[in-house]
Amino acid sequence: MGGSFGGEAFETSVPLFLILELIFDHPLVGIPVGVAVVFFLVWTARRVRDRRFNQIITRGVQKQARDRLQEVFKKIKQSDPLFDPASLEKRVRNAFFKVQDSWSLKNTEAVRPFVSDGVLESWLIQFEFHRSQHIQNRIVDLRVHRCEIVGAEKTDVFETVFVKIEALGRDQWTDTRTQKNIDGTTGAVAFTEYWTFLRRPGARTKVSGGALEGQCPNCGGALVINDKARCGACDSLIASGEFDWTLTAITQDVEWRFRENRQEVPGAAVFLVNDPAFNIPFVEERAMVVFWRLQKALLDGNSFALRKVALSEFCDIFDKGLVPLKKHGSLSVGVCQTVNVSSGDLLDTIGVLVKWEGVPWTEEGGGISREVGKKFFSCVLKLVRKKGTKTDQRTGFLSLHCPGCGAPEVSSLQSVCDHCGLPLADGSRDWVLADVVFEDPVSPSLSVHPSPPLLQDPVGLLSSLVLVVMADGEMAPKEQKMLEEFASLWRMPEGRVRDVVSACREGTLTSSIPVGQPESHRWLESLADMCLVDGTVDPRERALLITVGKSMGYTPTDVDLYLRRRRTQLYARSRAHLKSGPAS
Ligand SMILES: [Zn+2]
Ligand SMILES: [Zn+2]
Repeated sequence: MGGSFGGEAFETSVPLFLILELIFDHPLVGIPVGVAVVFFLVWTARRVRDRRFNQIITRGVQKQARDRLQEVFKKIKQSDPLFDPASLEKRVRNAFFKVQDSWSLKNTEAVRPFVSDGVLESWLIQFEFHRSQHIQNRIVDLRVHRCEIVGAEKTDVFETVFVKIEALGRDQWTDTRTQKNIDGTTGAVAFTEYWTFLRRPGARTKVSGGALEGQCPNCGGALVINDKARCGACDSLIASGEFDWTLTAITQDVEWRFRENRQEVPGAAVFLVNDPAFNIPFVEERAMVVFWRLQKALLDGNSFALRKVALSEFCDIFDKGLVPLKKHGSLSVGVCQTVNVSSGDLLDTIGVLVKWEGVPWTEEGGGISREVGKKFFSCVLKLVRKKGTKTDQRTGFLSLHCPGCGAPEVSSLQSVCDHCGLPLADGSRDWVLADVVFEDPVSPSLSVHPSPPLLQDPVGLLSSLVLVVMADGEMAPKEQKMLEEFASLWRMPEGRVRDVVSACREGTLTSSIPVGQPESHRWLESLADMCLVDGTVDPRERALLITVGKSMGYTPTDVDLYLRRRRTQLYARSRAHLKSGPAS
């Protein structure tokens, strides 16, 4: 963009001979002017060089992403010749309106064919929260500016597309008893979301439309979905991902920026030996179902919602009030990530790190003020299943449906299917919750992961920054301002720094502060690398790096040297990529 300030432009634009004439004719004026001009030239040359440097890095990074995307599209087309990114974007755009409608009307019928159980469960439980608070949330005057596939993956088990949706809408909160507006934005607000769609590699695009259009992606008939999420005509499980794209996650803009830091799960390959269909997306989908069921149990004040997804021992502990969690409203999940897997003699175990935020619940009007007094939580859901259990590929993203008869699971005292009596919560069919492990705020995360993933989410990053900056006891207004600028640069919601700072003062932050030289070095470097993701470091990011570096014993020169070294590497890589591969 804006390449008009080219490298050669300034050389011809400065009338050098005029300055020389001035120096000879009027040295008293000419010499200082000459010196100023030389300084200007050097400064300009450096700026031009920096800008070209940045442009090459940015272009290289962008081209690499585009090339990668085209490569995946090509692979998908090999097995599904009708796959076309542009028409999928159009389908998602239409589905977006369906989803917003169903949210506003609290009716999920139209979206059931293409939404996973985890996503649906999170909505249903939030509807219940709203109902108990007599509030209704609507998005009105909705418009979509852009709907674009920005990423794709293809593995043996899944095809995945990530769709970026830029929209404009007005958030409206109504008291359902008086029908009066109580909260919300007065004008339309722009927002960006990333939607993740998955399907199994055998799925094919249908010209006539599929689940997103309300048609059976298997037999093509108009869908009248029964309560088992099956097509009434051909009995296929619809939102399982077997026939068409299934929406499995909606990620907010700010969270998306941190996805680059995702790490491989150590040890996950071990499961593939006995269970070739084992895969992380199913596990994390299941973890989300369990998480939202846990929240429902907190709302209900009993373990009924957990009975079919948790071991009975855990349900008993829950009912005795021994699970240290309280009812919160306005919940949103930031991180859901598998952090460890292990295989024992009787049980397989998986730890899924979940980070979420919510507003403390008060009986009247609690949990609805969405931005004030947010609390942040972090725990590892310990999921287990009996040794030898295999992943059920058919049910896929419908893990809240009985694998025996397909009936949807309802909350009850029973740990077996209410229809066919199949045991559901003993770990013989699917992953079930065995424990909730909290990270110790004093000696954090290290106990859970062998090597803790660094800077993986906005709240985690901000928490660490606040802890580092406040290590000397207090936070100077200048430091607070700097953190706020950084937060807004990373598109974090307003007030986030304030909430994290107050959580830090209360001592409730479950985040780590790097200890010792090698760790703080690694931490600072990964922070710098995050800032360098788009190729350049904003002056506000640099200021923060220097402040944080200082409280860890690094000089500004140390920080600048590291940034320069990394930029040189990025530049070399980008240049190489721009020269090779298909033309951009
Ligand atoms: Zn059908
Ligand atoms: Zn059943």
